[in-house]
Amino acid sequence: MARPTSIVVSESALADNLATARRLAPSSRVWAVVKANAYGHGLEPALVGFSAADGLALVEFDAAQDLRALGWRRPILMLEGAFDVDDVRLAAGHNLALVVHSQAQLQMLLSADAVQPIDVYLKFNSGMNRLGFDASEFRRAHARLLDDARVRSLTLMTHFANADLPGGADRSKALFDAACEGLPGDRTACNSAAVFDLAQAQAHWIRPGIMLYGASPFSDRSAASLGLRSAMRLISQLIATQDLQPGDSVGYGSAFTATAPMRIGVVACGYADGYPRHAPSGTPIQVAGRRTRTVGRVAMDMLMVDLSGLPDANIGSEVELWGDSLPIDEVAQAAGTIGYELMCAITPRVQRLRGS
Ligand SMILES: *Cc1c(COP(=O)(O)O)cnc(C)c1O
Repeated sequence: MARPTSIVVSESALADNLATARRLAPSSRVWAVVKANAYGHGLEPALVGFSAADGLALVEFDAAQDLRALGWRRPILMLEGAFDVDDVRLAAGHNLALVVHSQAQLQMLLSADAVQPIDVYLKFNSGMNRLGFDASEFRRAHARLLDDARVRSLTLMTHFANADLPGGADRSKALFDAACEGLPGDRTACNSAAVFDLAQAQAHWIRPGIMLYGASPFSDRSAASLGLRSAMRLISQLIATQDLQPGDSVGYGSAFTATAPMRIGVVACGYADGYPRHAPSGTPIQVAGRRTRTVGRVAMDMLMVDLSGLPDANIGSEVELWGDSLPIDEVAQAAGTIGYELMCAITPRVQRLRGS
């Protein structure tokens, strides 16, 4: 039997969450962000779940070619742009839109000869100070590209540093608006957090990622309260149980010690599956349909759970590490991280199943 550790990806949840993004920004087109293997969900389920998206956005050129090979004919946007001139030719050949965020990328584009015209997303640095041109460079680059034969269309883009905080994107949005003043072309700014909070900044294209997978972009608002459906369940099974006496401890480093007689279960899931090693004793977990807690340190292949009050739980009982009944954001919070990181961390040995 295969090791019973799997993710179950719901294509209908992906589709429902995309519909939610559209309802929030009814006049915008939607780039469904599928970088990092669709936030760990896999490109093939993403293609089904996001079949109604206007375009798919990512950062990996090999995955972009896979999307074309799998039959995606609509736009694809490379969010970090080209890494070298060969990528510009690849983009032209596969009809991939390219972000241009630096002088170096501008030169790459302008040194690529005899390529098909490319859709270019010119990126403005609105305060993240990661990628993008400052205001004057932005306008110069725009003027340089506007009538260049290699450019099929020119869209104005930024990415907010603080859209998940109340009012956090206001200043960035004002800077972006000022930088774009009077320039022709479509605009795109909003990640998931801004889709929820900045209706006026939706512009022509929105770029939701995390919300499409059913997790919250905010630390203080649950996915359910935002109307999102979890698209990934991480499930496994109990493979052993142990009866502990007071003073018995559990796992490496004996990080948890029983103070009363208790039963624990051993789950076939550990950090080599992508479960966070930082998750402390007490992290929520669901066993045989009931909420309980982890005990002891997460190991490479296993973690342990408290079976107090779960007399029916036994070897073979289903364990949900996160999913429909246990939001990934709750596990992430207990482990001091965010849902994004947990989704992306699922490793290749975890089986991938299709859900409803
Ligand atoms: C990842 C990414 C997004 C999506 O962000 P979420 O917070 O997941 O919605 C949007 N735009 C850019 C440029 C990105 O890199």
